[in-house]
Amino acid sequence: MRMNTALMDEALIIVGAGHAGGRAALTLREEGYSGRLILVGDEPHLPYERPPLSKGLLQGAMDLAGCSLCDRARLTELRIEHIAGNPVSRLEPQHHRLQLADGQWLSYARLLLATGGRARRLPQEQTNLLYLRTHDDALALRNVLRPGVRLVIVGGGFIGLEVAATARGLGCQVTLLEAGSRLAGRVLPPVISEALLDLHRLHGVDVRLNVALESIDAEAVQLVNGQRLPCDLVVVGIGMQPNIELAVAAGLDVGQGIRVDAYLRTSAPAIYAAGDVCEFRLGGLYQRQETWRNAEAQGRHAALNLLGRELPFETTPGFWSDQYDWGLQTVGVMTPLIVSRVLPDGGLLLFYLTTDGHLQGACGWAPGQRVAKDIKLCERLIAARIPLAAASLADPDLSLKQLLRG
Ligand SMILES: Cc1cc2nc3c(=O)[nH]c(=O)nc-3n(C[C@H](O)[C@H](O)[C@H](O)COP(=O)(O)OP(=O)(O)OC[C@H]3O[C@@H](n4cnc5c(N)ncnc54)[C@H](O)[C@@H]3O)c2cc1C
Repeated sequence: MRMNTALMDEALIIVGAGHAGGRAALTLREEGYSGRLILVGDEPHLPYERPPLSKGLLQGAMDLAGCSLCDRARLTELRIEHIAGNPVSRLEPQHHRLQLADGQWLSYARLLLATGGRARRLPQEQTNLLYLRTHDDALALRNVLRPGVRLVIVGGGFIGLEVAATARGLGCQVTLLEAGSRLAGRVLPPVISEALLDLHRLHGVDVRLNVALESIDAEAVQLVNGQRLPCDLVVVGIGMQPNIELAVAAGLDVGQGIRVDAYLRTSAPAIYAAGDVCEFRLGGLYQRQETWRNAEAQGRHAALNLLGRELPFETTPGFWSDQYDWGLQTVGVMTPLIVSRVLPDGGLLLFYLTTDGHLQGACGWAPGQRVAKDIKLCERLIAARIPLAAASLADPDLSLKQLLRG
């Protein structure tokens, strides 16, 4: 570790005890950092992963301990000071210090901002209107998803779709409203949007595309087209807003998220950012990634650079979603040049090629977990940069392993 001893006398502080923040704290210790390490969170819980919130935890098949990155004993053993339920309310980069909501000031040698995001909300507040971002949100929702409950979901993105699948499994009557012309249209190709639509309709979800909300009251959702949908409960899944306010108030460079350079360093000295809140350059463009994979990779990477390693962050993006008994997974960059392979089980693999025939992205959709294996092989094909013939990629009899062997 190349961190100088003067810096080691002061604390490393991580703001945001979610996935990226928690992973960074654990990595710092794994990498041998032995100085003071403080992890500050506004939630009352140990750092946890969010994907189960719309899946296993919402079904009741998992609990918070199953989603946590580590248990309390491990934090204690690693001497990670976890301050819970006490958000950072002020940051003073020029003085290397920050203030907590309870008034306490803390000084840092280096700081990581991993403040994630919150659910984007509709302007009105109502008791039958729920959102899903935190464990407590998931628990509140789980308590009301009973057989026969009439649920309207606003938003046909991943959160909305996963909640729809889980709610159907729990016996709810589900209507899903999407303003666009297809499901998850911002991130998925049309053929997968179609497959999602078919699957949800097959499972009895009343999916309505191209619809706009007029209003929501205690008994129904009113659409602009005049339709009224009586319901007991509305779940809104219309995206998330990055928690950038602390950084903005402290004068850090911010776009759609907290801007960082290739080393995940923000515009302020000794402050780094990671996870959903971090806006970094990928393929020449500033962007944020709202994925498990990114939180994991950037949390780890930021920890290394907090220790002075100065490694540029390089990534192959990717995400997954589970709905009913089907799995979706992507890796790399999804460009327009597509070759598709229909799988014997009805699944689909899409390959995205550069003009010179190299794989740079892939998307898989298939029953069960089989797609995970295929996407791992695609990731290796991307890294190997082997020129690939479209006909071979489309052929379900040619295994991806064979292609990898050249
Ligand atoms: C319901 C759900 C399902 C998902 N499913 C998938 C999936 O299937 N696949 C996938 O790839 N990704 C999925 N994701 C996305 C993935 O979970 C996120 O990308 C990941 O959690 C981001 O981690 P993070 O640490 O950046 O942010 P978070 O996990 O949100 O952690 C940030 C933490 O910082 C806290 N914080 C904010 N401001 C302050 C402050 N001022 N002081 C102290 N603490 C603060 C926040 O409250 C939060 O606890 C899902 C997300 C959700 C919500």
